[in-house]
Amino acid sequence: MNNFEVYLQSQRENAGPPTLETRRAGTLDLDLGPLEAHYRRQGEAAFRYFCKFSELWMSPQCREAIEPGASIVFIPARILSEKLQGSEMVETGGEFRELLERTRRTALLVWTIGGRIEEQISRYCEGNERLVGFLLDAATSLLLNEMHNVLRALVKEEALSLFSLFPIAEYYPGVGSPDSSLIRPILDISDADRRLGLATNDQMMIHPKKSQCSVVLLGEEKDSRILVNSPCIPCQGKKCMYFQLGGCHVGRAGGSVTHGS
Ligand code: SF4
Repeated sequence: MNNFEVYLQSQRENAGPPTLETRRAGTLDLDLGPLEAHYRRQGEAAFRYFCKFSELWMSPQCREAIEPGASIVFIPARILSEKLQGSEMVETGGEFRELLERTRRTALLVWTIGGRIEEQISRYCEGNERLVGFLLDAATSLLLNEMHNVLRALVKEEALSLFSLFPIAEYYPGVGSPDSSLIRPILDISDADRRLGLATNDQMMIHPKKSQCSVVLLGEEKDSRILVNSPCIPCQGKKCMYFQLGGCHVGRAGGSVTHGS
């Protein structure tokens, strides 16, 4: 599908200004097979909508509207800690604060598929083919998750090669929780507004909506188990629209989502 570019910035302790390079992160794609199987099981009418969505997904109109971009910034944990002084996450996030205090370095991740695809999602959701719009929404969320997986692999590789360190924890700030206080500092340090065209509102919702960020703490313990898809917190289980559409990033369509109720 789309190649995407990653701004990769690293700063060594006491070693002058940060270095910045851009990397092609490979091809980004989404396997529609599980979604197709899910809609086949839903009956003929639902499957017809899946086919319309699939045609749209493969069309140049849709492909060109997906504009992925990402940034990974490695910084000493001390610098992140200073930037987060007074933030809710550091004041109340006991485990995060403790881990940050004993971590030497962190990687800040930001990724987006841009805002143009949102116009198409809205157009379909507001028209006569709402299910096509919902499916496009679910598929783009899954695509965002695929980008996250590509970036996690890159962080793991670069952390080992640059610093001989491993990812030990990942914090994935969500709107409305104390960790949302991480969002603005992550975007500011990553210069994401300028590099990726992102913005936040008063509730710390990122615009374009199909954009996310996270903090990966790096340490000497080799434990890659943290870099796996984890459920949203809180998980709405079977009441979740993405679950019902077959677009949950954990269970995926046709998979076994065992979390939630
Ligand atoms: S089912 Fe849970 S984990 Fe999956 S998308 Fe919905 S809220 Fe997130």
